[in-house]
Amino acid sequence: MHRKLALTILTCLMIALINSGIVIAEEPKKDDQKESVDKHTETCKHNLQTIGTAIKEYHEKNGDYPEWLSDLLTEHLDDANILICPSDNNAGKALYTRAQDPNKPVSYNHELLAAQRTQVLDTHEMFGDITPLVRCMHHNEKNSIDNIMNLSFGYKVYQAHYYWQNHLVEIYGGVEEAISALEDGFQKMPNNPRFFSSYPTLLKLYISTDKMDDAEKLIERYKTVIDSKNVYHYGYLGDMLKDMNRHDEELQLYEELEEKMPKNRIVLQRLENIHELRGNEELALEYRKKYVPGLAFLGEMVPDFEATDLEGKPISIEAYRGKVVLVDFWAVWCGPCIAEMPNVKKVYESYKDKGFDIIGISLDHDETKLRDYLKENEIPWRQVFSGEGWNSPVSRQYGIYAIPTMWLIDKEGKLISHKARGEKLESMIAEALKVKAEEE
Ligand SMILES: [Zn+2]
Repeated sequence: MHRKLALTILTCLMIALINSGIVIAEEPKKDDQKESVDKHTETCKHNLQTIGTAIKEYHEKNGDYPEWLSDLLTEHLDDANILICPSDNNAGKALYTRAQDPNKPVSYNHELLAAQRTQVLDTHEMFGDITPLVRCMHHNEKNSIDNIMNLSFGYKVYQAHYYWQNHLVEIYGGVEEAISALEDGFQKMPNNPRFFSSYPTLLKLYISTDKMDDAEKLIERYKTVIDSKNVYHYGYLGDMLKDMNRHDEELQLYEELEEKMPKNRIVLQRLENIHELRGNEELALEYRKKYVPGLAFLGEMVPDFEATDLEGKPISIEAYRGKVVLVDFWAVWCGPCIAEMPNVKKVYESYKDKGFDIIGISLDHDETKLRDYLKENEIPWRQVFSGEGWNSPVSRQYGIYAIPTMWLIDKEGKLISHKARGEKLESMIAEALKVKAEEE
């Protein structure tokens, strides 16, 4: 869209310059590139249109869609080059491996793969003929996902965001059009949880066009289709109540959910947000403490754990009393944990002789991989490993749901930080050790 706008401006500028008698001898290189990208877009659109005609023919003859786009050759499509987008630098590679045509080089993602055919046909049922049937992912600038070229079930070509369902007004060509399409969809598929996220979408459209009665009815209708055990389904209901400014009902809904699922993070987070918006900051913090591991222990004694280390020796926080300790919940499979490791090693080397130590709590499943990593990277501090991943007893005890989680504990056993990592790790340790020195 920006590119089109830029070209329009450029064209206008050129006409103005020609009218004023100035001739541009050579276009700047940047615009050359733009033009060639645009040519690619045009060729790609043309390819998709041709593929659309072939699929239509195939469908009319066989009563079904082809399994792969290469199945269109050569009866319905005589030129195999049509299956290559000029923006595809690999000349025949769909951007997702599972979408790669097994028979011919094909640049396009065929949406009706066997593995997802039912889902995509349902999507077609819900959203109608604008639903993408074939997509070209090769026009992304800087890996953005807003420039996907689509051939729809209605054999129209249009450009849209990867998550086209979030841009229905543009695609249908107007708010009223989007409303009536979604109403049709829900008429056919009111109970399919895959499309529950479109209930809040339709509600927003009703609100934007002041159809408040329809909005109220939609909420009542949604209440009848959701699964009372599914917290995500309630999330959409909460969103809708919020959009309707029915804040007390939203709060009541989540307080009821909290009774049913007192440890559910999504519920607790929502209650935190609700109270934050109401200005109940203390209550918001109370909820935050319930789901952010360690937050409740800040400035308090960290409850101890009992475990054995990789050598089979007992290990606990209490045994480190008198030292500043970093408890590192991590795993070899966790990229950010591994990225943090040089920093952790550096602080260990700098402070290990000054009263600092580290306990690793590994959430790995594979003991060999863990031991190999520790050996190769010369990691000397002790490790707790149960092989149960997220279900490791120590990780469960503290409610760890994301790693790296790094806790810094002072010499008395009180938590200094539940986010002791990155640049600030070293200064935190230095400060904690200085306190110790001063007190002695
Ligand atoms: Zn393309």
